[in-house]
Amino acid sequence: MPQTSEKIDQIYDQVVQRNPGESEFHQAVREVIDTLGPVLRKYPQYAESKIIERICEPERQIIFRVPWQDDRGEVHINRGFRVEFNSALGPYKGGLRFHPSVYLGIVKFLGFEQIFKNALTGMPIGGAKGGSDFDPKGKSDGEVMRFCQSFMTELFRHLGEYTDVPAGDIGVGAREIGFLFGQYKRITNRYESGVLTGKSPHWGGALVRREATGYGSVYFMDEMLKVRGESLEGKVCVVSGSGNVAIYTIEKIQTLGGKVVACSDSDGVIFHKRGIDLNLLKQLKSVERRRIADYANEHGDAEYIPGGNIWDIPCKVAMPSATQNEINEASARRLVANGCIAVGEGANMPTMPEGVKVFQEAGIAYGPGKAANAGGVATSALEMQQNASRDTWTFEHTEQRLHEIMKEIHRSCYETAAEFGSPGNYVIGANIVGFLRVAEAMLAFGLI
Ligand code: GLU
Repeated sequence: MPQTSEKIDQIYDQVVQRNPGESEFHQAVREVIDTLGPVLRKYPQYAESKIIERICEPERQIIFRVPWQDDRGEVHINRGFRVEFNSALGPYKGGLRFHPSVYLGIVKFLGFEQIFKNALTGMPIGGAKGGSDFDPKGKSDGEVMRFCQSFMTELFRHLGEYTDVPAGDIGVGAREIGFLFGQYKRITNRYESGVLTGKSPHWGGALVRREATGYGSVYFMDEMLKVRGESLEGKVCVVSGSGNVAIYTIEKIQTLGGKVVACSDSDGVIFHKRGIDLNLLKQLKSVERRRIADYANEHGDAEYIPGGNIWDIPCKVAMPSATQNEINEASARRLVANGCIAVGEGANMPTMPEGVKVFQEAGIAYGPGKAANAGGVATSALEMQQNASRDTWTFEHTEQRLHEIMKEIHRSCYETAAEFGSPGNYVIGANIVGFLRVAEAMLAFGLI
């Protein structure tokens, strides 16, 4: 019998061989399975039945053509993806990302993360992810609608409230979910509200879903700080990104007394020492779909740094909320050197492995995305609950449920990390809690 660490290396090598060129997927697998050694030693049945190997292989992968016409009548062809990774705990669940960088490796990394994240929420949802290399930036509403209709014309046959329930991610917000739901309803002749989440509250969506990822990440941060006898009150914070997650992260930090001095988009950074003007940011980004460079035109005392690195800005609390691999080793070192005491990931896998190591060695609080940003998908599960019971909950009630769920995720990660000999290590806690929930169900179902 090989040693556990050798076994884990073998599993990783197999994943790399079977999924060539998919570096983000390899990275996500490595991060999870490297923490599972103690679990395999404690529960040999999971090694014997090759649960890790099975989890690393998606249950189903769908790749399809998405043809659409732009406003000038020109034909375009994009590629659509849905990776239905694991359904041990419930229907496949996870967002759709529309971004030119999307390829199978990105969808698989996100789908793989989603398995553990969704398990951590304690809700009955499996893990999946999908999307397309379509770029919504600069497209008209009509073009986005035609793309979404074409995308759903293939995807609908794979979905269902008991089968697979997509939602949004980067490039997919309320507008896109509306177009997708409209097409699903039209093709199937079913008003099946529970087939998509992130819907508008006017037609089957849940209140708080829009805010949930950001609010949830801040609740998780608040719990990590509490353990250290700290709070957000008066703390200087930096939040990367300026999309849905970043906006509601900033909003909740401000409510809890923190001061967010910077945000960003893929072109540059806004530094506003006085604190980000959230109303302006919402207007620019959510309503007018403009770039944050325009923020500095409205506020003379704000600085726009084209191509800047947001992690150069000193802060106590950092909340990466843009995209994967946005914090490299050098940026992590800079954050620590500038006095950062806590990092909470609103985005999925925003910190590169070398960066995570820097945070852990420095002993600062580090909340990995699959735990810290699980509030989004948890609230999607609350939306499914409301759809199934044809009920609508108030904002207050839904937010309270979200808050409880985030506290519970924090508690379970914290306690499990301690139980497995790594107190304060949320990476180990999150991976082990998520893995055990999925593994237990898979074992119960026999060889599937
Ligand atoms: N895309 C979000 C995530 O990364 C939400 C997925 C969902 O609500 O299904 O978790």
